[in-house]
Amino acid sequence: MSLQSADALLLDVFDLQEQDRIVTFLTAERGKKRGVARGARRKHSRYAGQLQPLARARVTWFERGSSELVRIRSLELSRPATFLQGDLEGLLLGAYLADHMLEFAQENEASHELFRLLDTTLVALAVGVDRDLAGRYYEIWVLRLAGVFPSAGECLGCGRDLGGGAVLPAAAEGLACRHCADGGLEVGPEALEFVRRSGRENLESLARRPPSRAALEVVAELSARVRRTFLQHELKSFRVIRETLAGLPPDVSVG
Ligand SMILES: [Zn+2]
Repeated sequence: MSLQSADALLLDVFDLQEQDRIVTFLTAERGKKRGVARGARRKHSRYAGQLQPLARARVTWFERGSSELVRIRSLELSRPATFLQGDLEGLLLGAYLADHMLEFAQENEASHELFRLLDTTLVALAVGVDRDLAGRYYEIWVLRLAGVFPSAGECLGCGRDLGGGAVLPAAAEGLACRHCADGGLEVGPEALEFVRRSGRENLESLARRPPSRAALEVVAELSARVRRTFLQHELKSFRVIRETLAGLPPDVSVG
């Protein structure tokens, strides 16, 4: 049995049996981990109020060779996630950010870039950066780090500079010019420019000169299609957000 300790971002918390909770957390050095917080459901637990998804915490845990489930010894909150917990939109966005890491981060694999991406996105959200902007930046970068976000430079078909506009073909394998694409998602000049800027500017800089809502919507659709092609399924929280925004009862019962 070995004792480990790391700064972590909590991704998911759920109840296990009568008294315990299972916490999934992301570390830079060891990737994604799942651990049991014993007694966390008890009334006067030392974890009381600490197990908030997307909070940052110092976690210490025991590891036993073969077991994937570790045992949490202590957890000290260093940054709460209260800025996402006060309203429905914040809760949905939080679940969406966490979902990406649950899908894309690997267990026991160094994940410095993913950790930094989620951490800096949360810091920006905490100081009030526009949530839409932060969400678009974050989803582009998760896909970029996974190596699947299309280049906004040259056409996939003919290699010509994409200039002021592109099309994402139905197969979503990359961006093409209008001559090469045979239908697909139109990515106009403003959306394309945002994709390019996201590669060289941080969130604070993007927020000083934000794109229009319409351009952000196109970027959301672009990322969603690329992500769906890669994962072969949709993130559960993405569906819940769409349904909630459309005023439909969210289908939260599906596991
Ligand atoms: Zn072309």
